[in-house]
Amino acid sequence: MKMSKMGVRPEKTTPRDAEAINQKLLIQAGFIHQEMAGVYTFLPLGLRVLNKIENIVRKHMDKIGSELLMPSLSSKENWNTSGRLKTIDVLFKACAANEVSLAKSDAEYVLCPTHEDVVTPLVQGYNPSYKDFPISVYHIQTKFRNEPRVKSGLMRCREFRMKDLYSFHTDELDLKRYYDEVKKVYQEIFEEIGIGKDTVIALASGGDFTKDYSHEFQTRCENGEDTIYLNKTTGVAYNKEVKPEGADTSPNFEVFNAAEVGNIFPLGTKFSKAFGYEYTDKDGNKKPVITGSYGIGTSRLMGVLVEKFHDDKGIVWPKNVSPFGVHLIDLQQTDEAEKIYELLTKEGVDVLWDDREMSAGEKFADADLIGCPIRILVSSRSIQNGGIEVKLRNETESKIISIDRLMDFVKNV
Ligand code: ATP
Ligand code: MG
Repeated sequence: MKMSKMGVRPEKTTPRDAEAINQKLLIQAGFIHQEMAGVYTFLPLGLRVLNKIENIVRKHMDKIGSELLMPSLSSKENWNTSGRLKTIDVLFKACAANEVSLAKSDAEYVLCPTHEDVVTPLVQGYNPSYKDFPISVYHIQTKFRNEPRVKSGLMRCREFRMKDLYSFHTDELDLKRYYDEVKKVYQEIFEEIGIGKDTVIALASGGDFTKDYSHEFQTRCENGEDTIYLNKTTGVAYNKEVKPEGADTSPNFEVFNAAEVGNIFPLGTKFSKAFGYEYTDKDGNKKPVITGSYGIGTSRLMGVLVEKFHDDKGIVWPKNVSPFGVHLIDLQQTDEAEKIYELLTKEGVDVLWDDREMSAGEKFADADLIGCPIRILVSSRSIQNGGIEVKLRNETESKIISIDRLMDFVKNV
């Protein structure tokens, strides 16, 4: 992609109300635009990162579920049946203007904050036989929650992206088996995104879903909202809300701030009972279906990555989610820049080409702000010196290499 054609450019100014690093840097570098508190446009650079995160999630989810797409707007009846129309305090309810004027009490919809209340009657409606279980479906979609505090950029929004997976089983044992499989797959996802070592599974309250623990995937992050207590002997981590007696003070516990990037819940029969969802077993007996639900905050992840991976010059993206693999800077519109762009693109490397007429200093500053892992500079001087200048975002020294060696260099980063 040529930067001159991108339609938006790094803003460099900090929004006045921006407190969180991810909000400041993502807006300055031209990844997102704040429409209102907690609601963002994903600009071309930002959408590329979001897509990369979601495609990693999708690749792993496809091993354990089938992708579908449920709507954001749902009938309030579903939420009435589950009882959650009254109990979810962050629920956005919607009605059409013409229906409001008629003051019809049934002219109400829900902008989904999550989808248990949509997916349960959906699967129930197909009346699967006991032989069809387990059933697992997921989608990656926009959610709405009227969060009272939306101060941390992409980490807490009123409109945000989530991957949510739902599973249906004939017994608790099968749910447990599947639940453990999801844990494993989640760890693979966070590993590939670049936060594997810094993400722990923490025991947390099951909320109004389950009396059992739920499990949160908590990533070490100074600006995260959660406090985690990690038992250094057993390796078991607890969210502060369920920490064992005395863990406040015990030297056996490491305490750190973290951001919740995923949360999984053994729902049991909570929703199947609410919707009267039973299956008929092989002996003809009716039994409630056992369910689980499993979320990952894909847009929150983008914010968490920036909180973790930045320096005083800008963002330092982990390789697998960087908007582009290479940031190409061209100072005198040389033919070489065109050649390099084509060479890399042909080899499947995605290149952001800064072809704008600006000073070298400004282009370098933008490259640091945007944070792609490799910067390549082509200028008449680099060509005189034997080729092109390459520099990694997380290193300070640059070096000159010949164009012939470029592909090897890029592949080995
Ligand atoms: P939190 O405890 O942070 O409010 P939650 O437990 O309500 O989150 P879930 O319903 O489990 O969240 O949603 C699944 C995932 O979606 C969370 O783990 C988180 O990563 C993400 N998420 C939840 N709320 C938001 C939000 N307001 N903005 C951005 N991402 C969110
Ligand atoms: Mg949660």
